[in-house]
Order: sequence, then structure tokens, then C-alpha cells
Amino acid sequence: MKLLYFTRTCKNRCPRCGEGKVLKDIFTRQDACEVCNFKYDRENGFFLGGIPVSYALICTFWIVPWLVAYFFGWAPVLWTVFGAITGAVAFTYLGYAYCQCLWLGI
Ligand SMILES: [Zn+2]
Repeated sequence: MKLLYFTRTCKNRCPRCGEGKVLKDIFTRQDACEVCNFKYDRENGFFLGGIPVSYALICTFWIVPWLVAYFFGWAPVLWTVFGAITGAVAFTYLGYAYCQCLWLGI
């Protein structure tokens, strides 16, 4: 049952009904489900949990591959530093709302 909630939020759907959208657009989260009126914000600061989700995803899928490329000699140090930092900043900005959505499902 808990996996169902997570898969629904991965698809940007309400964890309760699976119908309403959690995110209006890439940057904006809704306060409640438009179909079942489920309040997404459970308490003040609840969505701060999206920060460690964002951090884990960026480290796993962006920083670590850059470091692996550097240690195997596939990328010079300047590319590694520049690519890792700019990508991490960009993905944090672009993916934070979606990570809040994932946090809701977790
Ligand atoms: Zn709903």
C-alpha cells in the first residue's frame, strides 16, 4: 500500500486518490488535491523533507557520475568542478518542487 502512494507521487498524482495533481507546474505545488481535497501540507515545515530528497538524487545521479568520470580520467578537473556545481545548482532549482512531491509520497 505504501508503494502505491509513492508510485502515485512519482507520477505527480495525489497519494490518496491518484487523480489530482500535486504540482501545478515545475515550480509550484498545490496546497490540496483538487479532486479529494486532501491537504498536502501536513504541518509547518513538512515540505522541508524535499531538501534531503533533492540532495540524495543530485548526489546519486549527478555528482557521483562526475567524480567517477574524473577518477577514471575521462573528465579533466575543471570540467568536473564546473559541471558538478552548475548542474547541482540547476537541478536543485528545477527539481525542488518535484522532490517535495516525492517527499509527500515517502
Ligand atoms: Zn486526491
